[in-house]
Amino acid sequence: MSQQIINNKSPEKEYYSETEKKEISKRYRKILNGAKEYIKEGDTRVIRKALNISMEAHKEMRRKSGEPYIYHPLEVALICVEEIGLGPTSIICALLHDVVEDTHITLKEIEKDFGPKVAQIIDGLTKIAENFEQTQSAQAENFRKMLLTLSQDVRVILIKLADRLHNMRTLGSMARNSQLKIAHETIYIYAPLAHRLGLYQIKSELEDLYLKYTEPEKYKEISSKLSSSKTARKRLIDGFMKPLNKRLAEAGLNFYIKGRPKHIYSIWKKLTTQNVSFENIYDLFAIRIIIKGIPPAEHDKEKAACWQAYSIVTDEYRPNPDRLKDWISTPRANGYESLHTTVMSNQGVWVEVQIRTERMDEIAEKGYAAHWKYKGTDTTLDKPLDQWLNQVRDTLADKDNSAIEFLEDFRGNLFSEEVFVFTPKGDLKVLRKGATVLDFAFDIHTEIGKKCTAGKVNSHLVPISHVLQNGDQVEILTTKNQKPSEDWLRFVVTSKAKARIKDILKESNKTHISEGKDIIYKKLKNLGIEPTLEVLNQLRAFFNKKDYNELFYFFGKTYIQADEIKKFKQEREAMANRQKKIVIDEKAFKDAKSFEKEIQKVKGNDTLLIGDDMQQIDFTLARCCNPIPGDDVFGFLTINEGIKIHRNLCPNAQQLLSNYGNRVIKARWASQLEKSYLVTIELSGIDRVGMIQDISKVISGELHINMRGLSVETFDGIFEGKIKVYVFDTKHLDILIGKLEEIEGVNSVLRAATE
Ligand code: MN
Repeated sequence: MSQQIINNKSPEKEYYSETEKKEISKRYRKILNGAKEYIKEGDTRVIRKALNISMEAHKEMRRKSGEPYIYHPLEVALICVEEIGLGPTSIICALLHDVVEDTHITLKEIEKDFGPKVAQIIDGLTKIAENFEQTQSAQAENFRKMLLTLSQDVRVILIKLADRLHNMRTLGSMARNSQLKIAHETIYIYAPLAHRLGLYQIKSELEDLYLKYTEPEKYKEISSKLSSSKTARKRLIDGFMKPLNKRLAEAGLNFYIKGRPKHIYSIWKKLTTQNVSFENIYDLFAIRIIIKGIPPAEHDKEKAACWQAYSIVTDEYRPNPDRLKDWISTPRANGYESLHTTVMSNQGVWVEVQIRTERMDEIAEKGYAAHWKYKGTDTTLDKPLDQWLNQVRDTLADKDNSAIEFLEDFRGNLFSEEVFVFTPKGDLKVLRKGATVLDFAFDIHTEIGKKCTAGKVNSHLVPISHVLQNGDQVEILTTKNQKPSEDWLRFVVTSKAKARIKDILKESNKTHISEGKDIIYKKLKNLGIEPTLEVLNQLRAFFNKKDYNELFYFFGKTYIQADEIKKFKQEREAMANRQKKIVIDEKAFKDAKSFEKEIQKVKGNDTLLIGDDMQQIDFTLARCCNPIPGDDVFGFLTINEGIKIHRNLCPNAQQLLSNYGNRVIKARWASQLEKSYLVTIELSGIDRVGMIQDISKVISGELHINMRGLSVETFDGIFEGKIKVYVFDTKHLDILIGKLEEIEGVNSVLRAATE
């Protein structure tokens, strides 16, 4: 049967080999099989048509690994089915998701063949044509576009996440700089997004893959430690559960255990941020007790059963009272429900126990889609997620925001926890944690927000900047004459309030903007500079403004005096005189294509060798992360300052790579470097007489390292110090750190991220 699908009717050329055709039908059948329960009569025919079109359209394309391109959409569809739990429409869209972007097929044709819904989703999955302005990021724009479609259909994001997951799984065959770009973009936006939608499994895998490609050594180290401690872990779980198994069964609870370890990325995070050793992470894994056999509709019974299990666990083991979390009574915003407690085991280690029902577990792992599956049984269940989606829609409504600003706002929303408050009538409102009376007012209505002058929280009069707490009942007081001010933006936290206030301010700012524009043009003319787009953009960069409007506004409001343009003129002339520095001429790339070319010119096909004098390309080492030879690094092409070298671990790397991945240049250190670099080392420990002498003895005496500064602070017998030293490379630095660690009383020695 499936033979028919994959016989393409071109006798001149066979695009797929026999083995490949077999593989395609195998994967296709797997998709249909996985979605059995959702597929209705007639669906199969449409899905097959989608496969045919996609196979034909992609027939001449191969992936970097050499496999036929069609494997990719097939795998994406399979992830949608098996790991997210989506149905036929999503399968069709997944199969066709790259067709409009990469082949001759148009959105119109898709609409004709599959209807408006499919076309709309695919439109959301298709990148915009690249004609972006210099100041904007195409990647951020694409992301915004994708989210705009999200407000009509969440499946856009779910399929995009499946697409990203498969790309991450197959990242091994990509070039190093693409790996970095894609990996950072993933950790910056896609993993948090998966988390927000409750797709825990996908989020964890994305994070692990990110680590695998950005910190391969660390990744390997942790995963081998995890597998070697597997038996010990199993023994601990068995011992822990032994007394519980019996009592839980006696109580009539039908259950099973999952004892999965933490994923590699979160262990790595703990290791790096808390500076503990692998062996000392006490919550390396959690024991999950999953209760079966309760009909999902009987929410009360589910809750009672979970608390019953909790009572048995804490009868047997002493709980840590600070670590009880009841996500059943108040589910998290991503829909997560579970009961968490941490108890002391007989082996003397803390063990986290998670108690939940099968339904809760499925939601915890598959998130959004699993939610919908149960929606029919109890419509109140998905309230938090719907609320969140509404918030996303609000963010999206603000189309004037620059794409990057939008992305930042959006990310802020992804990470935030929420606060539950009530209207005077007792309606529940879920706002972002830290929300103020003013946020609440804007959440109710823009007109109320605009006129808000104060609030009453639990009948007490409070200012509009008052931060709300869980359970607060809030009443808004308004006056006719109230006017929003810029000051408001300092304390509101919800994107809705921010967006609305900005809108209102923008309206009144228009006058200042046009005044500022006049001032600048006049002054430039005075100084004999033609106000070209290039000049304006340089001016914007010089005054560190994010766009022209902001620049004009600052002049219009006379926050910046017109005379300061003189300084810009001087700087500009000095710049032009500087030799060898790469300054990209913006006139040279009016469109994305020529910008791309310019970058290629700089990049060549080779890796930038840092410190190789033969290379004619100039670069500087980024101040934000202070790289030294031996660090994993990348080059980043800036508009005005040439190439900057950053560490892969730079605090800014995620932001740079996810917004401007096309400006990334492969870079590595030339082997023969005789230069030394300044790094800062932070150390702490127990203070004693002679400590500083010992430290400086190691540095200048034993290792003959040049020290530039040493500062030490002591309090209550503990000391914390910072040393600035010159080293040749990471090896040199490691030796120094090793020696310092050996000094009596020294507890930790770390390289500081910045100077
Ligand atoms: Mn794709």
